[in-house]
Amino acid sequence: MRFDILTLFPDMFPPVLNESIIGRAKQDGFIKINTVNIRDFSRDKHRKTDDYPYGGGNGMVMMAQPIYDAYLSVTEGLSYKPKVIYLSPQGKLLNQELVNELSTCDHFILLCGHYEGVDERIIEEIVDEEISIGDYVLTGGELPAMVLIDALTRTIPGVLASKDSYLEESHNNGLLEYPQYTRPYEFNGRKVPDILLSGHHANIKRWRRQQSLLRTYKKRPDLFNKLELSEEDRKLLHEALNNEGNV
Ligand code: SAM
Repeated sequence: MRFDILTLFPDMFPPVLNESIIGRAKQDGFIKINTVNIRDFSRDKHRKTDDYPYGGGNGMVMMAQPIYDAYLSVTEGLSYKPKVIYLSPQGKLLNQELVNELSTCDHFILLCGHYEGVDERIIEEIVDEEISIGDYVLTGGELPAMVLIDALTRTIPGVLASKDSYLEESHNNGLLEYPQYTRPYEFNGRKVPDILLSGHHANIKRWRRQQSLLRTYKKRPDLFNKLELSEEDRKLLHEALNNEGNV
């Protein structure tokens, strides 16, 4: 998967994207990340890339021309159009379903806005999709771009140690993941549930499914209400709620 990032702040990326799993994915050739400094494409003698908004109002707006030339520097010579995503608080909300949908594409250009955002005409001209990482406003699109790169990179087969760890995680099947434990067996008087030490794989699987259902029911009723539960799932949840004295 290749990511070309159009940004005014390219130095923000390496400290985050060179670390841990994403850093390794880069080293191992699963992903290629290229930052393009929009300022390098300014035609202004002071390398200006923003200007006052027409009609007045607060802040500055990123000009279309430097962004467009930065975009052309990436697409020049390509026989196809990479998927251009503008990270924007006005975009479609990012969730695992959207990440999975996007993961079929292997070349992205990510446009990071700053200040009051970008001139609307650059969106009309080059952007295929606007994506938001949440209903709040950040100072720039750089952190959202890193969030998107991280989420997409994890979907590439081979990036995570086990394929199952990705598929079993929260949001991949509409459920939140079951609770996880590691050593020691006892921490501050809290013990690991005995079933996880039983070695009985079918019972462990059943317990984990039950915990996933219970957590989703309690923590994310919005997700829970979208589930189509099997008879077995209903029984599992009922049993769990019973055990907690909630039924
Ligand atoms: N004036 C814009 C508005 O009200 O829609 C907000 C601009 S914001 C201060 C500056 C830049 O940060 C945006 O152009 C966008 O690239 C990025 N940004 C801010 N919040 C975001 C979010 N929730 N998701 C994705 N990008 C975001």
